[in-house]
Amino acid sequence: MPGSNMRGAPISGTLKQGAASTHGLPTAGVVTNHSIPTRHPRSLTMRTAHLHSRAAHQVTNSHGRRTSMAIEFSHETNQNPASDALRAEILADPGFGDYFTDHMVSIDWNGDYKTGGEWSNARVHAYGPLSLDPAAAVFHYGQEIFEGIKGYRHADGSVWTFRPEKNAARLNRSAHRMALPQLPEETFIESLKQLVQADEKWVPSGEGEAFYFRPFMIATEAYLGVRPARHVEYHVIGSPAGNYFGTPEPVDIWLSTKYARAGEGGTGTAKCGGNYAAAMIAQLEGEENGCKQVIFKDPHRNDALEELGGMNVFFIYGKENKLVTPELTGTILEGVTRSSILQLAKDRGITVEERPITLNEWRDGVASGDITEVCACGTAAVIAPIGKLKAADFEIPAASEGFGEISKSLREELVGIQTGTVEDRHGWMTRLV
Ligand SMILES: *Cc1c(COP(=O)(O)O)cnc(C)c1O
Repeated sequence: MPGSNMRGAPISGTLKQGAASTHGLPTAGVVTNHSIPTRHPRSLTMRTAHLHSRAAHQVTNSHGRRTSMAIEFSHETNQNPASDALRAEILADPGFGDYFTDHMVSIDWNGDYKTGGEWSNARVHAYGPLSLDPAAAVFHYGQEIFEGIKGYRHADGSVWTFRPEKNAARLNRSAHRMALPQLPEETFIESLKQLVQADEKWVPSGEGEAFYFRPFMIATEAYLGVRPARHVEYHVIGSPAGNYFGTPEPVDIWLSTKYARAGEGGTGTAKCGGNYAAAMIAQLEGEENGCKQVIFKDPHRNDALEELGGMNVFFIYGKENKLVTPELTGTILEGVTRSSILQLAKDRGITVEERPITLNEWRDGVASGDITEVCACGTAAVIAPIGKLKAADFEIPAASEGFGEISKSLREELVGIQTGTVEDRHGWMTRLV
C-alpha cells in the first residue's frame, strides 16, 4: 500500500500540552519524550525490518484464522518517565481515567477486511500523542472500538487480570461489527502483559484500586471513500484507577425516553465509541435532573430495560432468592462483569433469570418489596447500587437503603477473586507479571 498511509513528520520535541492535559498536573512532565522513531510504519530500521519478517507469520483474515506463532514486541523505554515523587502523588489518589502511565503498546495492521491482512510493528514505547492523517477514516466514519480491563496487584506483588479471553473475544466481535480486523487472542493478552511489565510501578495496591487497561482499535487509512479501512492501528494505554464510585453509595439514575444508545440491528452489542457518543446527550439530561447515570429502555419491547450508558443492570428479588437481568437482545453490551456475577449467583444457589424486565415490573416490585436490590455492574465500578429511578413524569424509589446485602456480598466475592483473597475456582485469573 504505497504511500497512502503517509503521515506527517515523526513526532519530536516536547509537547507540553500533552503532559498538561493527559495528566491533569500542568507541571507533571510525564509525557515529554516524544521522540518515537518507530511511529512511522515505513521507517524501517534494522530492528523493525527484522520485526516485520517475524510478524509476517502472524497472518489473520477477517475470520481470525491465524498461525500459532506469537507476535514479537520491540521495546523503547520512555526516556522521561514520571518521577518517583509524581507517580507517588498520582497513585495516592488516582481517580479514574485522569492519569496515564509512562508507556503504551501499538500494533499496525495492513490489509483488506475481506481478504485478510497482517499485524506488524508491535512495540512498547513512550506514551504520547498519535500522529494521524486528517483524512484518517476514524475521524470521518468512526471505525473505532475499545475494551476496558483491569490488572490487580496481589499480596505477593504479582499482577493478574480477569478473564482476558472474554475481552479478547468481545474485541473481535466488536471488530467484526465495525468491519475492523480480528486481533488474535494471544496478541491481545500479550499486549496487556507487555504494557504492565513496562509500567509495573504504576499498578496500585490499595483497596479497590487497579491498573486500568484501555485497548482500542482505530481505522487510520487516509481515504474518504466509504469502505473498511486498509490501515488500522491497535493501541493499549494504561491508567491507574481508584474506586470508581468511591465507597459504593447508591446512585440515582435517569430514565432516558428521548434518546436511545442503540437500536435493533445497530451497534449496541459492540463496544464502540459511537455508542458512547450517542449516550452523552442523555447523560447531560440526566445530570440536569440530578442523576449521574442514565438507563435506556427498548420501546419496541414493552419498555423493557436495557442498560446504562456503560454498565449492565440486575435486580435482586430477596425473598425469592432470585437475580434477574435483561436478556442479551442484540442491543445490550455483554459485560464480563455481568456474566461473572451470573455465575457467582448460580454458584450460591440463587435463581438466575435472563429475560425482559419492564419499568412496570420494577415499579411494582419495589412497591411490593419483592425487588430488594437494584444494581449496575461493569469493570470500572464492579457493582454499584442504584438508588432512585427518575423520569420526566414519575419516580421509582430506591429498592434498598445503601448497598443491598446480596449485591454487596457478590461484589466482595468478585473483588476477592480479582485481588487474590478468594479462591479462583473458575480459573478466571491470568497472571501478567
Ligand atoms: C463495557 C460496557 C459494559 C460493561 O462491560 P464489562 O465487561 O463488565 O466491563 C456494559 N455496557 C456497556 C455499554 C459497555 O460499554
